[in-house]
Amino acid sequence: MSEAMSDLRELVGSILMTKCPRCGRTLIYRVTERDCEELSRGGICTVALPCGDHVVLVCFDRDLNVRGTYVYRLAAPPERKRIRVIDQKPPRRPNADIIVIYPELMTVDVSLAISRGRDFLRELFKRAVEVAGKGVKIVTVLEKPVVFVSSSPSVVFALVHPHKQTLVETLSLFTMPTSRVFKANLLAEVINIGMSRESLTLKDRELISKLISADNLKVELVSPSLLPLARHVLSLAIKGRRDLVKKIVNQDVLSAGLTVTELASLLDVSVREVLEVLRELEKRGIVRLEPLGEENEPLQVA
Ligand SMILES: [Zn+2]
Repeated sequence: MSEAMSDLRELVGSILMTKCPRCGRTLIYRVTERDCEELSRGGICTVALPCGDHVVLVCFDRDLNVRGTYVYRLAAPPERKRIRVIDQKPPRRPNADIIVIYPELMTVDVSLAISRGRDFLRELFKRAVEVAGKGVKIVTVLEKPVVFVSSSPSVVFALVHPHKQTLVETLSLFTMPTSRVFKANLLAEVINIGMSRESLTLKDRELISKLISADNLKVELVSPSLLPLARHVLSLAIKGRRDLVKKIVNQDVLSAGLTVTELASLLDVSVREVLEVLRELEKRGIVRLEPLGEENEPLQVA
């Protein structure tokens, strides 16, 4: 028995994936040491994974094959739980009333919001849960018209005051894991693009998608010999930003294997400015932006 247990221990941390039979959501679970003990006794392990207003019992064997899934409704409705409020105070707050809601995390982020009343936030959260992942919806919340924008069930943007169509479009480009949206500074930069345009060009969309994934984009220096020339050309191309170009177009900085976000924080400039310079370098074949490996973020943990 003890030998079997030590074999099974290798399963700790393995990922088990299955679909909720009720709502179709993908459930991701990491095998724990206790699961291995259970497997060593009966060959089958059962865990309960929360999924919205219900729970999914998942039974699996030592080959990590799912042997059965059973759905039960939760006795206590989830809206009775407390909502957590985040307020990050970014330096450049956009002139727009935007609240970011994370239904699965029971969290609202008011870093970019003017509306902050508790009752309003509670009501807003309830409505956001209903519209999560459903695109653009206009809903009245406590007599205020609110535009909800959500392209994934894990994050909803609520625009409270009159807004531009471009801003709605900008927010609907967000489809990444919630952990990345938490940075109010980044969101402020992205929103500022939507605020300042009549319509989004292809270049804007490209910039927004890079801003959103800046954490996950690694800078690779391809042609160091072209750097001196690039510094000269870019000083002219990016007008009035000679200092910025000098800081970024530097062999030590570009060959350090940093991500775009790390580069921005090292040089103390905004991610957007770094991306503008990198785009010019990329066009000339001097650097390459390579996505890091896919993040495997657990959605549900028992
Ligand atoms: Zn479900």
